[in-house]
Parts: sequence; C-alpha cells; structure tokens
Amino acid sequence: MRRPRINAPVKILAVVAVFIALVLIIVLASNHFLSKNKTTETSANPTETEGSDKNSTEKKKSPEEVKAEQKTELLQKADLLAAGYDYDGAIAALQSFEGYAAEADITGKIADYEQIKGTLVSFPVEEVQHVFYHSLIVDPSKAFANHETSKPAQGMNQWMTTVEEFNKITQDMYDKGYVLVSIHDLVTEQKSADGSVSMEKGTIMLPPGKKAFVLSQDDLSYYHSYTGYGIAAKLIVDENGKPVNEYYDASGNLLTGAYDVVPLLDQFIEEHPDAAYHGARGIIALTGYNGILGYRTDESYKTQPADLNADKKQWLKDNPDFDLDKERADAKKVADAMKAEGWEFASHTWGHLHIDKVSLETLKTDSNKWKDNVETIVGDTDVIIFAFGADLGGPGKYNEGDPKVALMESMGFRIFCNVDGNPTAGPYFASHYMRMPRRNLDGYRIYMNSIGKENNLSDLFDAKEVLDKSRPPVKPLT
Ligand SMILES: [Zn+2]
Repeated sequence: MRRPRINAPVKILAVVAVFIALVLIIVLASNHFLSKNKTTETSANPTETEGSDKNSTEKKKSPEEVKAEQKTELLQKADLLAAGYDYDGAIAALQSFEGYAAEADITGKIADYEQIKGTLVSFPVEEVQHVFYHSLIVDPSKAFANHETSKPAQGMNQWMTTVEEFNKITQDMYDKGYVLVSIHDLVTEQKSADGSVSMEKGTIMLPPGKKAFVLSQDDLSYYHSYTGYGIAAKLIVDENGKPVNEYYDASGNLLTGAYDVVPLLDQFIEEHPDAAYHGARGIIALTGYNGILGYRTDESYKTQPADLNADKKQWLKDNPDFDLDKERADAKKVADAMKAEGWEFASHTWGHLHIDKVSLETLKTDSNKWKDNVETIVGDTDVIIFAFGADLGGPGKYNEGDPKVALMESMGFRIFCNVDGNPTAGPYFASHYMRMPRRNLDGYRIYMNSIGKENNLSDLFDAKEVLDKSRPPVKPLT
C-alpha cells in the first residue's frame, strides 16, 4: 500500500506543533513538581514553628513554674500509690520533693496518708484465696461448636471461662471488697549465710472489710490445639509499652486489644487502682512445649526431632519464615512488659507433667527443658504451679524424704500450688516453703454452682448471674 504524500509546509507545521507540545508538557510538569515541593515545605513549616514555640515557652517557664509542675506530678503519683494501699510508698514519694516540709499541701497530704495508714488492719494470710483461669474464650460459638460430639469442645466447656464471665467475676469480686495481692505478699523469705532459705508469713495491710486474693493463669502458651476455638492468638506489646492480645475474629480479621486475662485485668486495675495491692498482678503458669505467650520459643521447632508432633510440623509448614531467635526475642519483650506491670511467672513443668505419675528421671529432664526454653525468657522463679492440679503429697507438710520434693527444692522452688475447690482449704506454711491450693473458676465450677449441684463460689460471686448464657450444660467430670 502506498503511503500518502505530505508536502513540506505541513511537515514544518507538524514539527513546530510537537515542539510546542513538548515545551508545554515540561512547563506543566515542573510547575506540578514545584507546587508539590512547596506543599511539603509549607506543611513542614508549622511543625518547625510549633517546635520553636514549644522551646520558647519552655524557656520562658520560671523555676517556680517548673517546681509547681513537678509537685503536681508527684502528688498524682502519690495518690496512685495510696490508692493501691502503699501509703509508705506514697509518703516517701512526697518526701522526695525538695523542701517538702515547707509545702502545706504536701505536709497535709502526708498527714492524711498517715491517718489512713493507721486505720489499716492486717489481713490473715491463711485466709487469702487463690483463683485461677486458663485462656479466656472470646467467641463461645467457636469454642462450644459441636459440643455434643466434639471432645475438644467439651474440654473448652469444662476448663475455660468466657471473657464475659471473667469480666463479671472481676467486677463482682471487686464489689465484694476483694483486692488482688501477689503470691509473694504471703511470705517473706530469708536467706541465711549458709544459703538455706527460711520463710515467714508475710504481712498484708488492708482497710477493714477488704479481702486479699491471688490470681493465676495456667498454660498461657496459646497452644496449637486452641486454634479455631475463638481464643486469642498471642500477646504483643502495644505502642504504649503495654501487653495486649492479637485475636482473629470469625471472619479472619486480625484484631488487637484486650482478649484475655492479662490485658483485661490491667485495664480493670487502671480504672480501679484500689483493686490491686501495691501494684500487684497475677502469676502466669507456663509450660514450654508449644512455646510461651503465643511465640514458638521451644528449641524443638528448630531442631525438629524425629518425634516432632503433627501440629508443630503443620505450624512450621504454615510459617516458613520461622526464626527461633526472633520468636524468643519477641516473647521476651512481652514478658518484660508484663513484669513491668507487676505480672509474675511460675513453672507449670515444660511438658505439662503429672508430678505424681512421672518418674524422677522424666522430671529431671523436663526441669532442664523448662530452664533452657522458658526461664531464659521469663527469668527464674520460686513458684511451681502443678499441672492437672496434682501435688507431691496430702495436705500439710511434705515428706522431706521424697526425692521429688528434694528435686523441687534443689531447683529453688519454695511455693507449691495444687488445685482445691474448697474455699476453706487455705495455704500451709512450713519453715522453708508454702503450699497454696487454688480454686478453678472454670466452666465446670461455674455451671455446677449455677444449677445448685455445688456451692463453693458464693463467697466470690453469684454463679447464676455470672454464667455465660451461650455456654451449653457442662457434663459432670468422668
Ligand atoms: Zn495446665
């Protein structure tokens, strides 16, 4: 096909038109670029001005103004300490203010605190209650699905408490005057020169009518077996340095917030500072075989021994970027943030062992695994919370001749916890250790109390009112 002929003037016109178009494009583009830069500059300017304004106002502050600000902060800090019954701490904080004796508002506050401190009474440590939970159920429709036939769903119904039930219990116990104390508030430990430890009963000073209780949470690993049952996935540290949960809702959306005991209780105490004694929090009983706090921190995920179980294999397949060091570093960040809030950690044995049924050799191997895989992250502890609610002997004193008792003591454990639903069981104090029974506030206990088959919760809360309406009837334990 012949190309149409174009004459010379037309060619020149076309070249000029293209040239003009190119110039236009360049001009427009550079204008756009400049204006963009200008916007950035203008938006940057206010920040600068703000910054210099701030500096200049700070510079303008007189020493008196700075001192007044410090005083306000200190008074607030002291009020918070006093709300948690730490009047000595509150007074010491106020006395740290330079020239406090000449400040009428400070000396007035100190006098108030001294007066209230004088009204406190010693709460008998033998009467301290100890309640415990597992991870909470956020979505009961997931946890209890197919409960008629599914064994795991039946387990969820027996052993787990829902978020709704937990929140009601926390509020009810608070309304009844219960104050959370640390398990270590019950005892004072003394190390003598020869290294031996002796223990004496501790002193808990509370306003008349208040009652002390300890709280623990077991198995805070977010085991693989929890996946799909409407339970949080892990704990993380939020932008304020506080421990919060990651939770996947029914549609698979990742949510961040308070979906388990740790952040829920932190939130409650933040709103009710008189709910905790001297900033106490609960104690977390950790195994190690699936990692801790939702992190796969156990070395078996890296070494992958031949007997590695199926859910670990599947998890590794789903997480090809797994890095043991990173998991451990992330878990440590969470553990440190929890400790900063007052949370404590206990051993629950690495492999969730039944202390009474396993051999001494198994127990020794297990102890080393806990030390290598858990203690390295959360720090050492003198508390062991036995799995399955088991124990090393009947009530009262342990048999000192029992090699398992000797092993536990050689590992530094001085506080031993079993499970006993009886409200009057109470702790036992020996010369160098304490045994403390715990009361399970789980689906089984709440349900049995709600239908009148048991009556061992009414000192804490009203089970009928607390029971989650979405919980199916709980079958008696077989
Ligand atoms: Zn357990």
